[in-house]
Amino acid sequence: MIRHTGKPVLVFSLILFLLCACAPAYSEYSFTEDADAIERAADSVFMLEVYSAYNQKTAVGSGFVAIENGLLITNYHVIEDGAYLLAISDDNVQYLVSQLCIANKARDIAILRFDTDPGVPPLELDGESELKRSQPVVAIGSPAGLMNTISLGNISAFYQKNGKDWIQFTAPISSGSSGGALLNNQGKVIGITTATYASAQNINMAVKAEHVLELYSRWDGRTTTALNKTTGTQYPGSIQTAPTATTVPSTVYVTGTGKKYHNNPNCSKMRSPIAMDLLDAISQGYEPCGKCYK
Ligand SMILES: [Zn+2]
Repeated sequence: MIRHTGKPVLVFSLILFLLCACAPAYSEYSFTEDADAIERAADSVFMLEVYSAYNQKTAVGSGFVAIENGLLITNYHVIEDGAYLLAISDDNVQYLVSQLCIANKARDIAILRFDTDPGVPPLELDGESELKRSQPVVAIGSPAGLMNTISLGNISAFYQKNGKDWIQFTAPISSGSSGGALLNNQGKVIGITTATYASAQNINMAVKAEHVLELYSRWDGRTTTALNKTTGTQYPGSIQTAPTATTVPSTVYVTGTGKKYHNNPNCSKMRSPIAMDLLDAISQGYEPCGKCYK
């Protein structure tokens, strides 16, 4: 018969106590000091060029893959006038994004789907952890159309206006950073970098990740709408179709060789007799001709 005596239990408790007491020293992880991990996170952040149905660039911004493979998170205001976007990866590969999953204009959030999954790991969103002032943060985005830029800072305040929750932070961002990722010290996304005050130093705002997760939870996980068929405010279950969408010109012209598409078959010296759907041309790697798409 096995008898339990008090002594082994005491020793065991002591060991357990020592393990627990020592554990925090080993579990302190600092994403903001882990340059390799920041580099890996940057692989999931894209520079966005947004184009109208008439192939005019309407906006430049940032976006990031999060929650699941092939989903792109950005600000609604970045994509609101767009018919499609080109997402340019950290290693300069262009991906076409033409499908909207769900959006909320009031909260300035859009969730889109890549036409072809770029195969980068989705960043994890953290909408639950308590956020505290002075907590370190990393902002990754494409300010002023530059490729991914990384800046460090901290949370400086929380701000509420018209039912919108903002995280105010100091990591420098500027125009073009809209839609970028704000990560905490565990490397999880806590917000979308959205706005900056041009006249002030380092007063920047991010939409909270919890609102992104809330919006995602309202999506059925399947249905998408072509960006060029959406208009105005999209709320869950009430995506509107623009009456003018069917009149949008989407045919472009390419040559048998080369990698440019034109809006006029006579634009180039070589003529471009092959008519092609715009989105097909983009997905086949053709780029807009600088002469006829200014
Ligand atoms: Zn041309």
